[in-house]
Amino acid sequence: MVINFNKKVRKILSIVVALTILIGGGIYTQRSKKGVQTFSPSQEKGINRYSMDVVFDDESKRLMCNQNVEYINNTENTLDKVYFHIYPNAFSKKEYAPFEKEEMKQAYPNGFNEGYIDLKNVLNNDKKLEYKIEGDKNDLLEIKLAKQLKPGEKISIDMKYNVKIPNSEGRFGYGKNTVNVTNWFPIACVNDDRGWNLKSYETVGDPFYSDTGDFYVKILIPTKYKMGCTGNVVNEKRDREKVLYEVEAKKVRDFAFVLSTKFDINRDSYKGISINTYNLNDKMSEDATGIAKDSIRIFSDLFGKYPYDTYSVVASDFFIGGMEYPMLVMIDQSLYTQKDKFLLEYVIAHETAHQWWYSVIGNDEISEPWLDEALTEYSTVLYFEEKYGKDIYEKLIKTMEIQTKHHLSENIFKPTTKYKNSIDYSLNVYTKGALAFDAVRKEVGDDVFFSTLKEYFNKYQYQNVNAAKFVELWNSKGIDIDKIIREYK
Ligand SMILES: [Zn+2]
Repeated sequence: MVINFNKKVRKILSIVVALTILIGGGIYTQRSKKGVQTFSPSQEKGINRYSMDVVFDDESKRLMCNQNVEYINNTENTLDKVYFHIYPNAFSKKEYAPFEKEEMKQAYPNGFNEGYIDLKNVLNNDKKLEYKIEGDKNDLLEIKLAKQLKPGEKISIDMKYNVKIPNSEGRFGYGKNTVNVTNWFPIACVNDDRGWNLKSYETVGDPFYSDTGDFYVKILIPTKYKMGCTGNVVNEKRDREKVLYEVEAKKVRDFAFVLSTKFDINRDSYKGISINTYNLNDKMSEDATGIAKDSIRIFSDLFGKYPYDTYSVVASDFFIGGMEYPMLVMIDQSLYTQKDKFLLEYVIAHETAHQWWYSVIGNDEISEPWLDEALTEYSTVLYFEEKYGKDIYEKLIKTMEIQTKHHLSENIFKPTTKYKNSIDYSLNVYTKGALAFDAVRKEVGDDVFFSTLKEYFNKYQYQNVNAAKFVELWNSKGIDIDKIIREYK
């Protein structure tokens, strides 16, 4: 995610950078790169399979859903319960709403409006399963299994539910222009070596952690809407009133879609990857597409090939800035102006980098947010270096040093819940975090730095990592990364 504080700070940055780009003439530089190393992929575990039928009712802004999950026990323990996040319930009461106090007006321009999930039943082969709704924000679903699930075994779980989408301009909700359908369905909680991860939809940072799964989703919407989504539309049936999309998304850790009657869709491609931008200001469509394409190209070169065949950048009613989902990112529609072009480029590049660090390689974003955010913020700086030259890189790093001067003694390795607010979180995890990666690169040199990131991406594709695994990889090259980055505490 890119948060609103950065939006303000980056306005200042944008003037500095725009000037440098003008003076430098926007020279495109290409660092000499070592060939991509190849590694044998690690053994893949079985993955969960989600099949959903979704009907969107425009008038009530509700989704009527039937969902089947083939859930696989990937742990070494026998399970008698399984857990799912039911994030829409975090929007059911004002006191749960995952926004800071001062953001509430922007999040709910028409006053608080509830969102929730209304679960009708949970079945296994037509037999009812017992369930409980738990969690700090009623956003966890505990399902009791009728029979124990041994390691490696699968269970088929059917759920019927309705989702009420709130009138909110955060990640989940609808505004004047778009309907943002994100973190909307029951998604299996991760059961890792710490056991079940049952955290709620927290206010600061991105509170998500999930396993890679396969998704087959049928979505019925009024014909007047256009849709950007995770995955590929494999079939489309339409009449005058409605359109039914069949969407397939394989090996993704979430599924999101955004609807609008106003989208100007612009398409391009890069090495077989379709790049689609969904724009609300058609004057900026070409720019957005160019930035999306450059981001995919630059990060594919730096870290390893973008592994999906579609990427969508969607202008949204999303006051916070930018938000990443697999194969799709949402970008605050107000950034699509000539005046904010640098900012738009920064946010699109940042969210695109998350396709590598969050989407393909996952992590617990609450416990160890720096793992994806610091690396993503640093990747954003790399984007500008690759596209506009070393001068811009140095200027961005210098500005980050100035911004974090007063935070030098603070810790970038805390969970999101331990930061005072999003400004404190952003300055530490993003900005100081990016500086920590700059320090690593300076210490180990470009060849080792980029080849290790490539190896990291290759080795842990579609998996979840933690800081220990990340550090271990650097250690295996004889680099004490812990020592370098600890200095950024
Ligand atoms: Zn981010």
